Amino acid sequence: MRLDYLTIFPDFFAPLDLSLPGKAADKGLVEFHVHDLRSYTHDKHHRVDDTPYGGGAGMVMKPEPWGEAFDELTRPGSTIIFTTPSGEPFDQRLAADLATREHLVFACGRYEGIDQRVMEHARERAEVREISLGDYVLNGGEVAALAVTEAVVRLLPGFMGNAQSLVEESHADGGLLEYPVYTKPPEWRGHQVPAVLRSGDHGKVERWRHDQAVRRTAERRPDLLSPSTLDDGTPIVRATQGDAAELLTLQRACWVQEALANDSLDIPALHESLDDVRTWLGVWDTWVVRRAGRLVAAVRGRLEGPDQTAWDIGRIMVAPDLQGSGLGRVLLDHIQSVAPATVTWYVLFTGAGSVRNQRMYKKAGFRLRPDLDAPAGAVVLTKRRA
Ligand code: SAM
Repeated sequence: MRLDYLTIFPDFFAPLDLSLPGKAADKGLVEFHVHDLRSYTHDKHHRVDDTPYGGGAGMVMKPEPWGEAFDELTRPGSTIIFTTPSGEPFDQRLAADLATREHLVFACGRYEGIDQRVMEHARERAEVREISLGDYVLNGGEVAALAVTEAVVRLLPGFMGNAQSLVEESHADGGLLEYPVYTKPPEWRGHQVPAVLRSGDHGKVERWRHDQAVRRTAERRPDLLSPSTLDDGTPIVRATQGDAAELLTLQRACWVQEALANDSLDIPALHESLDDVRTWLGVWDTWVVRRAGRLVAAVRGRLEGPDQTAWDIGRIMVAPDLQGSGLGRVLLDHIQSVAPATVTWYVLFTGAGSVRNQRMYKKAGFRLRPDLDAPAGAVVLTKRRA
């Protein structure tokens, strides 16, 4: 992966030579290139800012140096990341998504931000993500670019010595925070290591850690816990990479039915591999239901559209023996309820011949949109967010 940084403070990026990022660069896993935005100016004072149109406090970053820098640095397949407090919130899922890209170009703003036309122009030549580190204002985008870099590159295959540590940490296990961790000595200043961790019973240790993770998440971040349960209390939980194989099995079962209903084998989901499922799990907000340990239903959603206001809903899947039980409708309601606040409308596709699905979507307030493009053999339905 190649990462380029455009900044007026190149020295901010000295930490990229340290620790694991530095080692990963030495191993050839990543390449870091830091560029001084002022080197793309042509005036004597190397100005990168000017007064805002319409008046107001502060200065705005001029478009020309950014345009020249993008001309030089972007290529087909580049993703340009603008760090901005008005961007989509950065989280582990977004980090996993960005880790699949070949080339990231970070545009670090300063002053009151960057002339809006720079973002518009960037969208014409590359994928653009506007990303916020959190709901607070920093002086510049450099710290945010470093944080995004660290979260992304540690997910690259071969970056971490022990890949298992990625699976076990916070935000990985179904969205839970990590359990407390301990090392030697067994007693320190009167504080003991919990006996279960020294028992040597792996099953007990696993259960204790899971309980601690749930308890800690409930106390500190109740928003991360599943917001929905079925009538019988079964939770709808975030899918993890460990669910990929069962999701593939469920998907095959459901899409064979779709193929029969639509009299066509030309349905992409039917032909996906385990690796395809693993890939989309990293990108889509996917939720699953387990009954007696068996994965029986799933749904996924993700932001779409140039302004990220559409929530694309898909893969509503219910095991054949539970179809008709209302589970599909519960999942449809759930995935709408977890859509980010920026979403103003929902969109989904279904087979033109999938009459049962279409009936459920219409009952849930969706309507057919023959005016919008749909893949061959499919129809598109949309609904405004209330
Ligand atoms: N006037 C801007 C506003 O209110 O949205 C804030 C500008 S801030 C002082 C300067 C730069 O810092 C921004 O252009 C952005 O690159 C960066 N920045 C500030 N807060 C950030 C955050 N929460 N996440 C990512 N970047 C941020």
